[in-house]
Amino acid sequence: MQRNTSLVMAVFSSILAACAHSVHEHGDEHPDDLGLYWVKYAAEYQAITAQVYAEATNDLPHLAADTSWTALPGQDIDPGLPPAVILDIDETVVSNVDFQLTFEPPFANHKLDTWSASVDAMPVRGVVEFVTAARALGVTVFFVTNRPCQPVKGNDTFCPQKQTTIDDIRELGIDVEPNYVMLANERPEWDREKLTRRQHVAKTHRVIMLVGDDLSDFIPCVREKPAGPCTRAGTQANRLEDVERYRDYWGSGWYILPNPMHGSWTSVE
Ligand SMILES: [Mg+2]
Repeated sequence: MQRNTSLVMAVFSSILAACAHSVHEHGDEHPDDLGLYWVKYAAEYQAITAQVYAEATNDLPHLAADTSWTALPGQDIDPGLPPAVILDIDETVVSNVDFQLTFEPPFANHKLDTWSASVDAMPVRGVVEFVTAARALGVTVFFVTNRPCQPVKGNDTFCPQKQTTIDDIRELGIDVEPNYVMLANERPEWDREKLTRRQHVAKTHRVIMLVGDDLSDFIPCVREKPAGPCTRAGTQANRLEDVERYRDYWGSGWYILPNPMHGSWTSVE
């Protein structure tokens, strides 16, 4: 608890320190980065993530108890399976805004991995309390990320990124075992389309919630480049249709966090 409190204080301190410079100043110099500055400095961003996780926390008891419920559309429901939630990691559990502010473009996964290994991870506000509440109710927490397993020179480990990712989660005060953290490419069938990994979790658990910051954390085949079982590319138009098609899930099993910095939304036409 003390660790959580100090993490919260660290978040507050960084926000207060930021007040020394107005975002307007930054925005005038770098208008393309306003979304980034919003995540870094806006109290509104902090309030929204707190709100999203509070709503998800409030919904935990009844969705866990309702054995006819799954957050995976079209999924067969086995009421005997234990309940689970699936969380994305970056900008859902771990905040990488400081990386976004400082990395040398273009983005590359190894740059994020190196940065993640070199700093203590910061939580997205509300996630620690949410995970604690879920586990107290007997709900298993899975983390499904598109951080990819990639070879690293001089490291014989198959997926060195996995330990970095586990360390990040643990740095937030959330203990986690490797089986509950699923990276892209960790198995041959676990491509960047997260559907396959959601279905993998559904073999052993009734998935009652999805939490993420990208449409692909909820809905398959919404990316510019189709992957896995997808035969269509995501477009601005079909993504909006999907949001409407699944309208009953938003705020009732699906909880989406804002990310104006990056995501599959930036590349579709
Ligand atoms: Mg994410």
